[in-house]
Amino acid sequence: MIKIKEVFLLIIFFLFNITLYAQTKKKYERKLFFPDLDNYKTLLTDFHQHTVFSDGLVWPTIRVEEAVKDGLDAISLTDHLEYQPFSKDVPNPDRNRVYIVAKDFTDRINKTVDKKLIIINGQEITRSMPPGHINAIFLDDANKLLHPDDSLKGIEEANKQNAFVFWNHPGWPAQRSDGIAKLDDFHRYLIDKNLLHGIEVVNELYYSEEALDIALKHNLTIMGTSDIHGLIDWLFKVPDDNESENKNLPGHRPITMVFAKSKDKKSIKEALFEGRTAVFYNEMLIGKEEYLKPLIEKCLVINNVNNLNLSYSEDGESSIKKIEIENISDAPFFLKNLSDFTFETNSDIITIYPNSKHTIAVRTKGNSLNELKFEVLNGIIAPKKYTKISLIVK
Ligand code: ZN
Repeated sequence: MIKIKEVFLLIIFFLFNITLYAQTKKKYERKLFFPDLDNYKTLLTDFHQHTVFSDGLVWPTIRVEEAVKDGLDAISLTDHLEYQPFSKDVPNPDRNRVYIVAKDFTDRINKTVDKKLIIINGQEITRSMPPGHINAIFLDDANKLLHPDDSLKGIEEANKQNAFVFWNHPGWPAQRSDGIAKLDDFHRYLIDKNLLHGIEVVNELYYSEEALDIALKHNLTIMGTSDIHGLIDWLFKVPDDNESENKNLPGHRPITMVFAKSKDKKSIKEALFEGRTAVFYNEMLIGKEEYLKPLIEKCLVINNVNNLNLSYSEDGESSIKKIEIENISDAPFFLKNLSDFTFETNSDIITIYPNSKHTIAVRTKGNSLNELKFEVLNGIIAPKKYTKISLIVK
């Protein structure tokens, strides 16, 4: 028969467990955050955006304010060079003006914010397929890229200015009816001549696994951009500040994380040319394993390890260890356990929400617990391939 005292102890034990395993679900922050790597700063960027200087619907200063709200480090306003539907009202004879207007405003706003924004001069070379739409950023003079009768000349001029050149939305259904990104001879030529350096794997609301495949096979830098024409808040359903929970993922624009030696234009450009990027969009992290693995290992911090103090254990000291994993980033993580350990309250699949702490209890069976190994099911390193991480337990 169970005695009153034992019942009391059991109640205490269950109450303890409820508080132990309750995960704090917090929405991601409006200002996105991802930690730095050991050797690189993690800079948040969006290098494909539009304004009224082509077919966008806002003045460039709005793009600057959106970027500051989102906690970005660098942006480029890449209006269509050759497509100027508002030219009657915005004549735009100087294609550098969108950059100058944004830069002047940013110089002023940077005096009032903690995180300084960098503006990079860029434009979108706008052609039918092939080659389709091509972005060129880090331009000296955008006007020199205007060659309306020759698809190649604008790209060659961008390269003459040492611009970073990337292929936009390669699977865009308006230019590829099946939505599948694939290379034409024109693209192969650009890649062979080193005139094309990157490719969008995420554009606006869309992810292209085929574009990722092209990026990896041809060593093009992996890019993700908003290609925003209207407002970031409306298109990506960014939650209001007073909204308690984020119900509408994505809830944020796609960003390219650039792993740069320092926060300046030169280092960003160098990192882009060396392919040091990863994309965050809609619960996905996409990038080469050499950057994605260390990034995720920095995002997930093991805070404390305790022996579960089970007062009812009859066979001695508990070998069940309680571990708190804190996700300091704005991405969720879907983890699959790869170690031999089993967990008390989870199966092999664990979700760790953005900006939250998750406590797991590990049955160690008396083995030493030095690391936890997981496959990150939303950490995409190639089509249908996911990065594996190891979290060191101290
Ligand atoms: Zn565009």
